[in-house]
Amino acid sequence: MTFDPRHLPQIQTLLVQPYIAALVADSSHAEVAHALRGALQSLRSEILGGKEITLPDFAGTAFAQRIKAGIVSGRSPHLRAVINATGILIHTNLGRSRLAPEALQQMVRVAAGATNLELNLDSGKRGSRGAHVEALICDLTGAEAALVVNNCAAAVLLSLTALAQGRNVIASRGELIEIGGSFRLPDVIAGSGAVLREVGATNKTRVDDYARAIDENTAVLLKSHTSNYRIVGFTSSPTRNELAVLAHDTGVVLIEDLGSGILMDLSAHGLGDEPVVADILKSGVDLVMFSGDKLLGGPQAGIIAGRADVIEKLRTHSMLRAVRIDKLSLAALEATLRLYKPPHDPLRDIPVLRMLSTSLEDLQHLAETFAQGLLDLGVSDVSVIESAAYVGGGALPQKDLRSMAVSLALPGMTAEALSTALRAADIPVIGRISQDRVHLDMRSLEGADLPVILDALRYIVS
Ligand SMILES: *Cc1c(COP(=O)(O)O)cnc(C)c1O
Repeated sequence: MTFDPRHLPQIQTLLVQPYIAALVADSSHAEVAHALRGALQSLRSEILGGKEITLPDFAGTAFAQRIKAGIVSGRSPHLRAVINATGILIHTNLGRSRLAPEALQQMVRVAAGATNLELNLDSGKRGSRGAHVEALICDLTGAEAALVVNNCAAAVLLSLTALAQGRNVIASRGELIEIGGSFRLPDVIAGSGAVLREVGATNKTRVDDYARAIDENTAVLLKSHTSNYRIVGFTSSPTRNELAVLAHDTGVVLIEDLGSGILMDLSAHGLGDEPVVADILKSGVDLVMFSGDKLLGGPQAGIIAGRADVIEKLRTHSMLRAVRIDKLSLAALEATLRLYKPPHDPLRDIPVLRMLSTSLEDLQHLAETFAQGLLDLGVSDVSVIESAAYVGGGALPQKDLRSMAVSLALPGMTAEALSTALRAADIPVIGRISQDRVHLDMRSLEGADLPVILDALRYIVS
């Protein structure tokens, strides 16, 4: 017989049960009531979901313990640190790039008190927010000018609005990307008030296709990085040089949405197809825009670099204020950019680049140390395997990075259940499931993460 959820006790009745009343004395009426409401709500949905459940003894200690756990979890932060053992270095759901200690320190310093965010310390007059990083960006990319905003999506929106509102934007049918989270290029173009003129075919677009579409209403040629897919086989698209010549002959602006821009050549680390920002600008592209928290290895930010007169149009547009970067991200961005310059070594000092370039031998060593730690805990079904890690964040979708993982299973527990338990740990651990085993990939981890994962597993095993 199914229980009628209308017969669940009232919160007021529960609040006067002795064990529950004791909780009120220890915490607060509001917290206990909130936790009771949550517990009753989940019982109600289980009953309505047709589940056969045994009701708890509402007057007992076990129920009070459950309410107490609800209060404790209600007090802890909802946004938390987790361990990324997925092997995806720039995982959007896991907050993308981890920051270097230098960037963290700068954020703390700037956040703890007042800062010269918009004060020119030489003149004592109002300064510009962007001034803290623009010269650095120009230095690292060879650009004439630069501008930073909230993220790359904002950079694209601002550029199109300032340069092409009410006019035409020409883009190849093969590059009308969607990158998830509702960023669809055709919609962004429409949102900017520009009109999209698609040219070419999905697999082939020639420079002539662009040339024929240009008329007196054309403001922008837009190139975009097809960052999360590849069109392979019978394909062609014009080079940046060809597009730049066409744009300049016809007086339109060539802009490129790069997504994950890189500031240095990473071909030795498996990213040979990924163009370096400085080279793109050298080939004649007027403006490039890219994210701060993808391969650059910094905080969320959108960076726009290129021709000074074009950047000036963006800088003076009223939308800039709505997409401006906040001071904490700015502090972290400046500190990260400085790590690209001496005496630093970006491959050593920027976590994302360090993970990308760690040798397979080092990863194997890490995996073996970790596997030994698991054996010491009494977890015996453990093996060290070769695996494929990914850059993520929309760079090189098909390109996998050789990596090493620890594959494990616990007796009497499905991989799904182990994965759920790892996510429920004090510091949640996010791995991958493959063939009913949990894989923890070493490439997205740092050495200091290993003891944390071992703690989580120690708790699960006990
Ligand atoms: C990731 C990406 C964006 C969006 O960048 P955000 O910084 O997340 O706003 C835009 N364009 C391309 C090609 C991308 O890969």
